[in-house]
Amino acid sequence: MAATNDGVDMSEACSSCDRETPHDVRVQIQTESSKRENAEFSREPYRVSECQVCGTTTHTRMNNA
Ligand SMILES: [Zn+2]
Repeated sequence: MAATNDGVDMSEACSSCDRETPHDVRVQIQTESSKRENAEFSREPYRVSECQVCGTTTHTRMNNA
């Protein structure tokens, strides 16, 4: 895979559209500050893909496949 870029359009399967659609894919660090335990997991990189057809966003935790 090449380097990660922000806002890359990728064709991915959308469960809502039930077909492959263009997705806006980006990586987002989500801070889960509400959790007091597991401080080492407080900042998780998520891969966020947004369907450009229906707007459904899919969040995938990257470091816990
Ligand atoms: Zn869709």
